[in-house]
Amino acid sequence: MKLAVPLVLAVIWTASLSAQGKRSEWPQHSEERPKPPVVLPGAAYTIAPPSDAIVLFGGTSLDRWMQGNGAPAKWRVADGAFQVVPSTGTLSTRDSFGDVQLHIEWAAPNPPVGTGQDRGNSGVFFGDGRYEVQVLDSRDTDTYADGQAGALYGQFPPMVNASRAPGEWQTYDIVYHRPRFGADGALSSAARLTVFHNGVLVQDAMELVGPTANRSRPPYTAHADRLPITLQDHGHPVRFRNVWLRDLETVK
Ligand code: MG
Repeated sequence: MKLAVPLVLAVIWTASLSAQGKRSEWPQHSEERPKPPVVLPGAAYTIAPPSDAIVLFGGTSLDRWMQGNGAPAKWRVADGAFQVVPSTGTLSTRDSFGDVQLHIEWAAPNPPVGTGQDRGNSGVFFGDGRYEVQVLDSRDTDTYADGQAGALYGQFPPMVNASRAPGEWQTYDIVYHRPRFGADGALSSAARLTVFHNGVLVQDAMELVGPTANRSRPPYTAHADRLPITLQDHGHPVRFRNVWLRDLETVK
């Protein structure tokens, strides 16, 4: 009987690993990879920031943001939201963060323009551009599974497609655990992401195999514990609002 608990834990651990393993066997960006089934999300909702949240955008000011090159934020603020201004480049938080719970709302352009990856594309990146939760208008258009909204780009498709229509506000609630590196720079634990899309679980504590990238899977390289969170300028006027996070490394 002494072995019962460790044995159960080992079985659960092995099952968990194999579930993740099955999701990473496909070639990157495979068009043959099955598309996640559609789940219609419930009624739209928002979540006001809790008392210990750091509000990154409350509706009027991009003071907590800058362009990725350090210049003042150039994205446009209007009607309680802010919008990608194409060709201005990445938007970056001024502060740096490690493990966080992040709430962010986004809306793809309406009427939609383009198809596949060229349609309402942006992204929420942790680790200063290394680890992307894809933002894409992928409700009514086709793209490879590991590139649609809610994907951990190029690695893990969302479990289901819980997208709303272009122009409608959508929510991401994300738990991000940064990777850990040993003193020698070797990876000791992978970056881990849990994502709810419009209240529907689409990523369940998935461990990234390395930084997310297009047509490549680069290996981890050691980096600082705390780095900016960034939003992608993919050339499309995607809007964002109600952005806040809880710093999980200060509440522990
Ligand atoms: Mg993107």
